[in-house]
Amino acid sequence: MKYVYFFGDGHAEGNAKMKEVLGGKGAGLAEMTNIGVPVPPGFTISTEVCTYFYAHDKAYPPELKDAVAENLARVEQSVGRKFGDKEKPLLVSVRSGARASMPGMMDTILNLGLNDETVQGLAKHDERFAFDSYRRFIQMYSDVVLEIDREHFEHELFALRDRVGADSDAKIPAASLKELVETYKKIVRERGGKEFPQDVHEQLWGAIGAVFTSWNNQRAITYRKLNQIPDDWGTAVNVQSMVFGNMGDDCATGVAFTRNPSNGEHKFFGEYLANAQGEDVVAGIRTPLPISKSQVTDVGASSSIAEKSLEESMPEVYAQLEDVYKKLESHYRDMQDIEFTIQAHKLYLLQTRTGKRTGFAAVKIACDMVDEGLISHTEAVSRVEAGQIVQLLAPMFDAKEKSKAVQGGRLLGRGLPAGPGAATGRIAFSAERAVSMAKDDPVILVRIETSPEDIAGMHSAAGILTTRGGLTSHAAVVARGMGRPCVVGAGNLRVDYGKGELRSEGHEPLEEGDWLSIDGTSGEIIGGKLATKPSEVIQVLIDNTMQPSESETFRNFDRLLKWSDEIRSLGVRTNADTPKDARVARLFGAAGIGLCRTEHMFFAEERILRVREMILARDEKGRRHALDQLLPFQQADFEGIFRELAGLPVTIRLLDPPLHEFLPQSEQQISAVARDMGWGFVELRAKVNQLHESNPMLGHRGCRLAVTYPEIYEMQVRAIYLAACTVKKEGIDARPEVMIPLVGTVKELTILTEMVRRVGAETLKANGVDLPVIVGTMIEIPRAALVADKLGEVAEFFSFGTNDLTQMTFGYSRDDAGTFLPEYVDKKILKKDPFESIDQEGVGQLVKLGTERGRGANANLKVGVCGEHGGDPDSIRFFRTCGLNYVSCSPYRVPVARLAAAQAELEFKHYEG
Ligand code: PEP
Ligand code: MG
Repeated sequence: MKYVYFFGDGHAEGNAKMKEVLGGKGAGLAEMTNIGVPVPPGFTISTEVCTYFYAHDKAYPPELKDAVAENLARVEQSVGRKFGDKEKPLLVSVRSGARASMPGMMDTILNLGLNDETVQGLAKHDERFAFDSYRRFIQMYSDVVLEIDREHFEHELFALRDRVGADSDAKIPAASLKELVETYKKIVRERGGKEFPQDVHEQLWGAIGAVFTSWNNQRAITYRKLNQIPDDWGTAVNVQSMVFGNMGDDCATGVAFTRNPSNGEHKFFGEYLANAQGEDVVAGIRTPLPISKSQVTDVGASSSIAEKSLEESMPEVYAQLEDVYKKLESHYRDMQDIEFTIQAHKLYLLQTRTGKRTGFAAVKIACDMVDEGLISHTEAVSRVEAGQIVQLLAPMFDAKEKSKAVQGGRLLGRGLPAGPGAATGRIAFSAERAVSMAKDDPVILVRIETSPEDIAGMHSAAGILTTRGGLTSHAAVVARGMGRPCVVGAGNLRVDYGKGELRSEGHEPLEEGDWLSIDGTSGEIIGGKLATKPSEVIQVLIDNTMQPSESETFRNFDRLLKWSDEIRSLGVRTNADTPKDARVARLFGAAGIGLCRTEHMFFAEERILRVREMILARDEKGRRHALDQLLPFQQADFEGIFRELAGLPVTIRLLDPPLHEFLPQSEQQISAVARDMGWGFVELRAKVNQLHESNPMLGHRGCRLAVTYPEIYEMQVRAIYLAACTVKKEGIDARPEVMIPLVGTVKELTILTEMVRRVGAETLKANGVDLPVIVGTMIEIPRAALVADKLGEVAEFFSFGTNDLTQMTFGYSRDDAGTFLPEYVDKKILKKDPFESIDQEGVGQLVKLGTERGRGANANLKVGVCGEHGGDPDSIRFFRTCGLNYVSCSPYRVPVARLAAAQAELEFKHYEG
């Protein structure tokens, strides 16, 4: 078993394809080494060791010690320094690196290998630098490995700064740093109960153990949960020889993206700090400077950008960096996120990975790369996470409203536009407050900077604002990953946690709970609420207030979805009950209606009265009379929908909910309705009580109602076909499909199918119109899935109602499960909320089996899904493997479903070979 993989001197034992074993960082280091990018040598301890570590009570495989020693020797040889050597000591970094990037969630240790002796070797070259590195190392190691709070060290550092009158760490003289090291060692002795380890090998193994252990710290666990990263992947550990970005003014460290991760613009984009160590940039402690000149002008408004770009301060290194980034992007054929260090004017790459990006950027980059001939249409489709595309539909601030607010003096300041989109919400100054306040109102999380502990708060916030940090700070990276509008580094604003205030000169301070608006596209911060307007895609597609030629975002959105359509075999329909929704869905590309719920049509003002009359009628005659009054309304509704969906199928579900849902419930409502209908209060209340059910979801509803009162469905069927006849005569192609809900036995289906066919045929004949009467059933009761072979002999189509199917298979009430399901997910009893994403193991098996049995009886059976799962990418992937014909989802999910269906197709084909 190979546990350790070397990289260095232009050759690596691993490569980019070995992410599972080497983690993302390790695989990137290996690949970069192999393609000739300058990388300091080192080695990666595989994720398999992490798995072993947790399976064996935190012990290592016996062969690991020798493997590490051997590889350390190779690193020593490569750089000409020895680990623990007094004269020329090798220093290393020890970093985590899982398969998926988890920024800042796990631990890192830099400058490892320093002790009282080796620091002298380093000091010969530069004493100040040597002791500065040593004190940083003691603090980091103590924090991560010895679990001694950082604060104790920072307290001493600040006290020292005061004493020597230094306004920054860089100004503390060498002699004082030497003293500080002694103080730090004393803290370790007192707080940790033993001496700071002087044995460099003990240091190394302590650090390796701490990185593996950090896989299971709370913030890593939360991050994995939010990002659906499996807990059993484990992390790798990268041990790499140190290069220093903090050795003087010809040194620097930075992070960069090969394209803009926020809007996708094709420009090299990044930030650096001169004379600093890697973590300083990501931690957002100092606001870094832009890499390129063009970036300075782009965000020129921000005060922190007044200083020089790397392009100006180190032009030769910048040119080299440009070569490297181009090489990496064309090698990986995707946007890269890189970390680099410059030591004495020499460039080293420390990381490359596929850059996280917003939905906007993902779509633009994919389309641009197609135009540049870098990737195919198919690759472009697989490059955009299906769920991310909804960002392109989200509202933005109305430009007029915004300029009014600005002119009215509400502009509090500007920061860097780190995550596009508009957000308005109440201010929360801590992650915990954000989580609790978000239950009532949208929240803007306002922080000086964010740290990995804040992710739960960031997740519940509508937008995020920080006053420090750059476009690659923690806040920016995480917000973009979550698709949250975000503004960072708003240097002219001051957050005072103590007073609970956000201050901007010339404005009243804002307090927690006050309204604030942030524009993550422009970086503006505006006091109070601000109205929004539809996104460009909506303006072009739905509102017709913008031309396609005016919106690149729309054009790219459209192209990507058209490429998806060429790939996918799964159809996408929509759930819509009104002509307006149907229109939106059609414009989004729905190929028909998969579920038109007819009960919603009964609630409008004039209709509900008739519905109540129908329910309260004393006999069939009375019911029929009330239904006759309802018929024209229903017919008009269907006509509207048929006109909107000309030529496309419209699946209409006959009445589903229990009747009591249409009746008043409180005494007050009962008395009002009694008055309107000319009933006595007591009499009406008795009727309401009589219809009351203990378990209405399992009660007299769906097809069961029609078995008792066939006249209800008869009226609906008549209305459907009358509407079809009317629009047919207008020359419009109406294609209704009638669907029976809540079927559990074949007899229910045969009785009702015969009725639908009879009434449908009569209506068509009376109007002289020829149209097929198509009848199908929902499969939403487990028994229906089990007897699908029998149902398939009668029905012309199946549509899985996975909402009810989930409810009845698990026995979880759809309306009440919110009280315990989050806990079930937390405790890993369930992987995900089964009402959000189909439970493949259980409910999904009923879908699979129902489809197979149904098709066994009728090979041409059309099968779809119309539960909420029809718009969930993971569920769509699963439905593709079941061989369904289509999914149906709400109008705004249609673009997501089109993209997800294409990706499902690619994966399915790949899997099938
Ligand atoms: C279902 O049960 O999945 C379904 C689509 O029907 P409804 O949500 O209306 O019960
Ligand atoms: Mg249902």
